Amino acid sequence: MFQLNTELAKINGIGQKFLARLAKLQIKTVRDLLWHFPFRYEDYSKVVKIDDLQINQSATVRATVQKISVRRTWRRKMLIVEALLVDETGGIKAIWFNQPYVAQILKDGVEANFAGKVTASDEEIYMSSPAYEVVRGSTSETKHTAGLIPIYPETRSLTSKGIRFLVKPILNNLETIPDFVPSEVLESNDLPNINTALKRIHFPFALEDAEIARKRFAFEDLFLLQLNNLKIRLQLAKEKAPPIAVSQKELDKIIASLPFELTASQKQSLDEIVADLSKPMPMNRLLQGDVGSGKTVIVAIAGIIAAKNNKQTAFMAPTEVLARQHYQTLTKIFGKLNVGICLLTSNEARSFYGDDLEGKRQKSELLKEIEDGKIQIIIGTHAIISSYKGKPVMFRDLALAIIDEQHRFGVEQRAALVKQEKDKGAETTIHFLSMSATPIPRTLSLTLFGDLDLSIINELPKGRKPIITKVVDPKNRPKAYEFIREHVKAGRQVFVIYPRIEPSSKENTESKIVSARQKVWNEVKAVKEEYEKLSTKIFPDLKVGMLHGKLKAAEKEKVMSAFSGGDLNILVSTSVIEVGVDVPNATIMVIEGADRFGLSQLYQFRGRVGRSEHQSFCFLFTDSSSQTTAQRLDALLEAKNGFELAEKDLAIRGPGQFLGDKQTGIPDLAMRALNNIELIKTARSAAEEVLKKDPTLKKHAPLRTRLKDFQKQIHLE
Ligand code: ADP
Ligand code: MG
Repeated sequence: MFQLNTELAKINGIGQKFLARLAKLQIKTVRDLLWHFPFRYEDYSKVVKIDDLQINQSATVRATVQKISVRRTWRRKMLIVEALLVDETGGIKAIWFNQPYVAQILKDGVEANFAGKVTASDEEIYMSSPAYEVVRGSTSETKHTAGLIPIYPETRSLTSKGIRFLVKPILNNLETIPDFVPSEVLESNDLPNINTALKRIHFPFALEDAEIARKRFAFEDLFLLQLNNLKIRLQLAKEKAPPIAVSQKELDKIIASLPFELTASQKQSLDEIVADLSKPMPMNRLLQGDVGSGKTVIVAIAGIIAAKNNKQTAFMAPTEVLARQHYQTLTKIFGKLNVGICLLTSNEARSFYGDDLEGKRQKSELLKEIEDGKIQIIIGTHAIISSYKGKPVMFRDLALAIIDEQHRFGVEQRAALVKQEKDKGAETTIHFLSMSATPIPRTLSLTLFGDLDLSIINELPKGRKPIITKVVDPKNRPKAYEFIREHVKAGRQVFVIYPRIEPSSKENTESKIVSARQKVWNEVKAVKEEYEKLSTKIFPDLKVGMLHGKLKAAEKEKVMSAFSGGDLNILVSTSVIEVGVDVPNATIMVIEGADRFGLSQLYQFRGRVGRSEHQSFCFLFTDSSSQTTAQRLDALLEAKNGFELAEKDLAIRGPGQFLGDKQTGIPDLAMRALNNIELIKTARSAAEEVLKKDPTLKKHAPLRTRLKDFQKQIHLE
């Protein structure tokens, strides 16, 4: 009998070569093999007599081999095996291409099942490369013919047939597996037990069997995801964080100091955040809103409130450009409030107490100010969680972490900060607020991000004009350039975003390690070429600047401040510009190779413009004339807001691509199930049900163990 963790290498009769090929697919144990699910089934379940075969029909015949022969085609390129198959009703020809070994197995007189499609050419009717299976007696079990035949994801030299050979006997000799999904959950949702499901997903009697087995596996992952979310919530509810309170009067005063009126959804979000902060347990909230909707102001107010309570805030941005921008925004808007604010990146240290706007500091000096509590809001990059001269940043009283624009919403940063504080002996943990301009479609917020509370800003500040967006036909390029020139003459500025040129997908998979670095280089190369072209050929009379990921921070800073100061007319950039950069006078966004970006990314690029009273434009250039490109770009033209777009993006690209390069650790099947709102809801209520009766899962040992493994898997990045 086999167990799930039996190693395939320990099973008699599996050849070394075969093991090596399986290993290439990461298949090493019985579990790996059985969880390598078919992706479709060939329906050979009809066993018919030869006389009844129909053209184009997929079917199985049981027949005897006659006159089998091997020959080469006249061009001597291809080996052809031909045989006559006969049963008591008649005969049909079978042809195999380039599989000479078939003639070794199927000698004249051998009785076998043949499954395949009946094909007709001008002269004759034949079965083309049928699957065959020698049968002994009438009761022998079949795995390649006479049924629904599983087709697996294959690699070169590892065929579905090979996998079937292995799966069938292993399934037949598998020890009963204890099911970690509680039986009452299975029953109330009409799902099969794990043992049945495994058999049926590989060898279904009918397609519905396979479907229901598949549903069970998707369900179990969603169920685990939900349990994980709910456990995190339960855990956080038990942890302590310092309550940070603010009186309504004081809050009103802070709001009144702003140079503008908050929108209704900004107010609503702020109220939710303030309520969380006032509780003695950690906040775990995500603030979502379109680019330019005013998230930064809201999270900054949270930092100000903390500062008024003598608590510190770590405000982390993904890039130095952004960190600096946040620093500038906060010092400008809240400069009079008497709060110590600093900027800490690997290249820069500045601090501000309402006086010296430059505020340059030695890093060691700044760290001392943080440690002494002179600084309350620490804005920076990951430098905040890195160490300097072997020591982590020492906060005097860190209470709030704000994380900007992280796709996975700062799980790692959060963990790093919490650990840092625990290591220093802190008794309480910190409040956690992240913000993102990438709206999460509902299905994902219920699953992958189900441990987070959401606040949503779904409107832009008053007075913003919608951005006119056009997909530009390549032949209209000169016109677009003319348009740009006119607007520059009128004093406006222009972004040109350039994508990296991806190496072909084959190279991509074969050299994953090189590719991350290679990608940056490709991107830089592309943007340099574009810069050359624009600055010397197309706009030699205008001032063009360039920004990419290989520039030093100081150079980036110079280019960015030249652009925001109006000294550059056009800024050519790679996607480093994606997040958050704020230059209101820029009113035209040109996106080259628009088909190479995700919809949400395009949406974010476009959000760089439309921030002033002038009408803004977004031009999308693409050489791709494919249907999907058109469909995707149309979605961008039509979308009313980021949420609508995110839903479409998810539907078009699927969760895997939607979530981007980042590994989520979520199995494929569950990934696809992330689109299935019904199943998600079912899984959620099942998880709630179980945890309500058994919060620590002590009565559900197999589930507890499985959940632990699952958590390891999804945190493994
Ligand atoms: P986000 O972080 O959501 O991209 P920001 O907070 O950077 O948006 O806001 C974009 C710009 O709009 C900033 O210049 C900010 O000062 C301004 N802003 C924010 N809220 C409002 C508002 N309610 N009314 C007018 N301008 C606002
Ligand atoms: Mg922003």
